[in-house]
Amino acid sequence: MSNLNIDSVKQRTFDAIVIGSGISGGWAAKELTEKGLKTLVLERGRDVKHVVDYPTTNMYPYEFEHRGELPIDVQKANPVANRCYAFKEDSAHFFVKDAEHPYIQENPFDWIRGYQVGGKSLLWARQTQRWSDFDFEGPARDGFAVDWPIRYKDIALWYSYVEKFAGIAGDKDGLSHLPDGEFLPGYPLNAVEDYFKKKVLDKYGNRHIISARCAHLSKPEPVHHQQGRAQCQNRRLCQRGCPFGGYFSSNSSTLPWAERTGNLTLRPFSVVESVIYDEQKGKATGVRVIDTNTKEVIEYYAKIIFVNASALNTNLLLLNSTSSRFPNGLGNDNGLMGKYVAFHNYSARISAEYEGLQEFTTDGRNPAGGGYIPRFRNVLKQETDFLRGYAAGLSGFRTLERDLSGQGPQLKENLLNPFLGPWHISSHMMGETIPKESNYVSLDSTQKDTWGMPLLKVSVVYDENDHKMSKDFVDQLTEMFTIAGFSNIQAQTNTRVPGNDIHEMGGVRMGHDPKTSLLNKWNQLHACKNVFVTDGACMTSTASQNPSLTYMALTARAVDYAVKQVNNGQL
Ligand SMILES: Cc1cc2nc3c(=O)[nH]c(=O)nc-3n(C[C@H](O)[C@H](O)[C@H](O)COP(=O)(O)OP(=O)(O)OC[C@H]3O[C@@H](n4cnc5c(N)ncnc54)[C@H](O)[C@@H]3O)c2cc1C
Repeated sequence: MSNLNIDSVKQRTFDAIVIGSGISGGWAAKELTEKGLKTLVLERGRDVKHVVDYPTTNMYPYEFEHRGELPIDVQKANPVANRCYAFKEDSAHFFVKDAEHPYIQENPFDWIRGYQVGGKSLLWARQTQRWSDFDFEGPARDGFAVDWPIRYKDIALWYSYVEKFAGIAGDKDGLSHLPDGEFLPGYPLNAVEDYFKKKVLDKYGNRHIISARCAHLSKPEPVHHQQGRAQCQNRRLCQRGCPFGGYFSSNSSTLPWAERTGNLTLRPFSVVESVIYDEQKGKATGVRVIDTNTKEVIEYYAKIIFVNASALNTNLLLLNSTSSRFPNGLGNDNGLMGKYVAFHNYSARISAEYEGLQEFTTDGRNPAGGGYIPRFRNVLKQETDFLRGYAAGLSGFRTLERDLSGQGPQLKENLLNPFLGPWHISSHMMGETIPKESNYVSLDSTQKDTWGMPLLKVSVVYDENDHKMSKDFVDQLTEMFTIAGFSNIQAQTNTRVPGNDIHEMGGVRMGHDPKTSLLNKWNQLHACKNVFVTDGACMTSTASQNPSLTYMALTARAVDYAVKQVNNGQL
């Protein structure tokens, strides 16, 4: 009997455990397995195999029962998911349904989730920009949160490393506040985007519009073919899962790569309830898992643990990892875990029309989505009555329009002869928010989910800085659109509640000092060194860039450090 037990423990013991198989967990799995560590990846959702589990990927619009829209009852049953632009008939199977995974909104907060192997990497919009020192130095310069324990030089090589493997399309723009990367050819701006770029640069000199940088294989390199991926076909059906592997996802890239090493064990349907802390050893020894089908509780053991459950779920499971040494959550000696949660302010957008450039239209689809306006406010110095700044997306397009006047044969003739309308231009803001103690998540003391995990309470709101920033975005873009001669300018504010940006960050922030932060510069818990957090929970501040590329780079960097520490007996 005791031998049986020993065997069973052996079977449940690995060199490393990764919690979550999304963008950051996929990278942890790839790096750990490549470096020779037997690695268990625990994923709460079902398995999603590349290509075979993308049921809608090759469907024609007429093959969808509702022509791509979701029935009203599905929309009504999922008010949170339904506010995400990508929740449609072709992709709804990759989204968490509201009723299945409840959480408590102390203030309105859209928590958009994808619980499956690959996480949200199947759904993301693939926008990828590096941070610069203007971002890492932000909290210290402007006096909020705590100082980042790293600078651009600490992560630059790791950006290069992940970019080469993931495949990032972009142009070398030479901007100090948006460093260039290892790019595949960028996707050109269309006629109206390019026209706007020139007008804006002429007028301001320091406002740039660049081709959006995105994780698409515009021209694959051998390393992408080795992953089994092929050139992006510009279908723009990415949210269905791409059978070509044309964009980066864990499913098409990092996870199959990890599997090929022979060192990966992937266990879907495994919700990690907590990390186990051994008081005698003074470190974490493993994790406690609930099998989501059988509800059986199983323990797995490893020398090092990477927590990559996505920002708020990482907060949840670490707060839930209590012991007599850590009664308030693993590593939470200072009581700050769950606090200083921040996000991106997407609360305003603006659109216009342009009557010029009628001789041009677009040809095919741009998977990058169009242009990107890097942050231009408060970059070199403070110049407005709000802190930090915003980036913005930009896209221009023409639509086929039809003259609906007339009757009988005339109407028929009109309907059969669509014509190209004017250019439409639209832009949405992506603002940095200031992490504050009063924006936090915590565990409900009584309510639990189907698997017995406490419900997460989310208490996050916009502040005055966010409102001023939204107003500035509208004012500045209105001015820029006017200078370009655009007409019918229409702005919308208060378009989204926090969370709908799907860039939630913080709660387990990095910093120099264990008194004011949870993680050190290597993403290790200050108080439990063999536990690493490299998803959005680790972020000390948010910058205005899309965050996932930074999670990838931080993850690869932390794994490199962790494995060196394991190999020299430090962990
Ligand atoms: C529509 C959409 C558009 C987006 N666009 C962009 C973009 O353009 N650029 C960008 O940078 N980001 C974008 N994002 C955000 C991006 O998807 C996330 O930043 C990224 O996926 C985060 O990676 P992650 O590994 O932290 O989490 P995820 O990719 O969400 O993966 C976390 C995984 O952990 C699992 N998990 C959770 N809890 C547990 C548990 N207790 N036990 C076991 N497993 C668990 C989940 O099931 C999930 O598979 C977008 C997201 C969406 C939905």
